[in-house]
Amino acid sequence: MTTPIYLDGHSTTPLAPEALAAMSPWWHEQVGNPHSPHVAGMLASQAVEHARSDVASLISSDPQELMFTSGATEANNIAIRGTAFAALEVGIERREIVVSAVEHKSILSSASSLRTAGFRMVEAPVDGHGVIDISALERLVGEQTLLVSVMAVNNEVGSIQPLADVVRIVRAAGALVHVDAAQALGKLPLDCSGFDFASLSSHKMYGPMGIGGLFVSSASPVRPLPVLFGGGQETGIRPGTVPTPLVAGFGAAAKLSRTRLDADAAHSRTLSALFLEELRSRQVQFIENVPAQQRVAGSLSLRFPGNEAMSIIGRAGHRIAISEGSACTSGQITASHVLTAMGYTHQQASETVRLYFGRYNSVAEVAEAAVVLAEIVRH
Ligand code: PMP
Repeated sequence: MTTPIYLDGHSTTPLAPEALAAMSPWWHEQVGNPHSPHVAGMLASQAVEHARSDVASLISSDPQELMFTSGATEANNIAIRGTAFAALEVGIERREIVVSAVEHKSILSSASSLRTAGFRMVEAPVDGHGVIDISALERLVGEQTLLVSVMAVNNEVGSIQPLADVVRIVRAAGALVHVDAAQALGKLPLDCSGFDFASLSSHKMYGPMGIGGLFVSSASPVRPLPVLFGGGQETGIRPGTVPTPLVAGFGAAAKLSRTRLDADAAHSRTLSALFLEELRSRQVQFIENVPAQQRVAGSLSLRFPGNEAMSIIGRAGHRIAISEGSACTSGQITASHVLTAMGYTHQQASETVRLYFGRYNSVAEVAEAAVVLAEIVRH
């Protein structure tokens, strides 16, 4: 069986060869635990700190403000639950957590799980392109707001959120701001210095799976409590042995992304435009759910009226790897909460597929993928 053309980079990206090379020695030749006092441990610790600097540079933060986690899910849980419990501990009385309606499940579930601890999750609506409604946010954020969490880029439709406006509103209300940057890291210039917290994921930017990070600003008045308890690693916010190979791979991927940010974005933009052109030239009927200027380069959310996404994906499966809605919720029959929040009916949502054209996709793959999709949709 030939490998399908991989167009599911929202879900996970291929590992960069440079990241694989950086990970390699730490599995086998140099195996010290970075928390051990011997030389092998110290070498591992140096590699971890080196990677921490490389990731921190990508988000314009100080390395000391970055804690490694297992991924963005864990970082989101710490940012939301850890901040709420820290507020309880220090006697802050604000009890509302405001999120956009299109956040990842790890945000929505973390925030709603705090109901039993006395917190209320408030959802800010988005417009038809998946962009947060700033005037609604302004009305919802107030003196009861503890934390506002808005993603940088949506994982299902690729919409870019107006973070500068979000930060302005949050600061005016004296609240804290968290940004889930999992889908923006390595795709857009990201300066975390205006946020209190930000979540990162390595496997969305050509690094290994199983590693990510939480940025905690040194200027933030609240420091999240851990959600796991154990040794004091990662300044106590995320105890557990730091996995040197994964961290080294994440660092190498971050370093590479920094130098390639513009080139990667230009390549992704060219490929997605070419793909749309190829579909049009084959008279395929489709709707772009989010216009080019509001989405991250390379990301497409397309609706094929009259065609069920699951049927397209199933029929394309052996030739192109694409997803419907969010991979994290795929398998469920319910419509995507993102498309629903954008005002789509169940039927419209079920006709939507998402594609991502990334660094390692080629022009030839794009042309072939368009031919495959056109054949499926036309029949
Ligand atoms: N947030 C967003 C926006 C995501 O796209 C994802 C991955 N689907 C996550 C959080 C979870 O990231 P991880 O897989 O690193 O836990």
